[in-house]
Amino acid sequence: MNIIMEVQNIAKQYNAKKVLDNISFSIYSEEIVALVGKNGSGKSTLLKIIGGIEECDFGEVIKYVPTLKIGYVPEVAPSHVFFTPEEYLFHMGKISGLSKQSLQQKINDLFILFNMNEARSTRMNQLSKGMKQKIMIMQAMLEDTKLLILDEPLSGLDPRAQHDLENTLLSLKENGYSIILTCHETKLLENVVDRVLLIQGGRVLQMASEPIIQSNQLVFELPNKNSIDEFLPLIQIKQIRTLYNGNQELTVTVSKTDTDKILLAVLQSNASIKQLIPLNPKKEQFDTYF
Ligand code: ADP
Repeated sequence: MNIIMEVQNIAKQYNAKKVLDNISFSIYSEEIVALVGKNGSGKSTLLKIIGGIEECDFGEVIKYVPTLKIGYVPEVAPSHVFFTPEEYLFHMGKISGLSKQSLQQKINDLFILFNMNEARSTRMNQLSKGMKQKIMIMQAMLEDTKLLILDEPLSGLDPRAQHDLENTLLSLKENGYSIILTCHETKLLENVVDRVLLIQGGRVLQMASEPIIQSNQLVFELPNKNSIDEFLPLIQIKQIRTLYNGNQELTVTVSKTDTDKILLAVLQSNASIKQLIPLNPKKEQFDTYF
């Protein structure tokens, strides 16, 4: 994964109220990043600054690829009721100055990528909210966009539509796109997000230092109830989580790269290994932090 964009020391205030205070982080290629935080914490403001819609007071957004195209999708429902999705996308593409031929090809590709071919000639006012949301994202991708900025894309969708949109986001990632989105329900993000950034007090707290943590969960049977104090110093390895059931069972979660070290430490003690479970990296990040 390569860095495609860096947000450096961004600060923003409205009417002397500091909303963003020295925010820095990177966005990598082919990853989905979620910005989470309370209402009014500055998520939308930050997305608008990254998308070039709002100016910041201080700092800069650096594109590692100068030609990087960014598509911004705000949290508003489209009201172009008399258009079909195809007409709407064509119209918006023409406004952006795209040629008729390349536009037609692009729109065809997008309908396939978004699994929306059947709805291309249906009036927009007859489409579900989830489908309208997809069309807004497709619109943002008409120019060769590589980074998508989505403000609350799952908001107001029923569980089925949310699931469908989550799958769409995953297939966009698989097709080489990067996505930064906001979401207030962290549970919804479990299946799609690689990295979570929490905005609090104008600052960003990076929830995971690496985009993906590959980890293993190891369950040990300790030789006796008192041996936890003797055992723990043996595993001076960065642990993601340690759980002791108060009896003789100890569960330790470590990164994949530290697994061999911990197994060696166990062999040097009298503990026995009961289980080794490879963990889904995305799920583990969320279980750890929420
Ligand atoms: P979030 O997306 O996390 O709910 P916002 O970025 O929308 O937060 O807003 C952060 C703060 O900035 C809020 O207090 C909001 O009232 C204020 N704010 C946002 N946009 C403007 C604006 N254009 N003018 C004045 N204040 C604004």
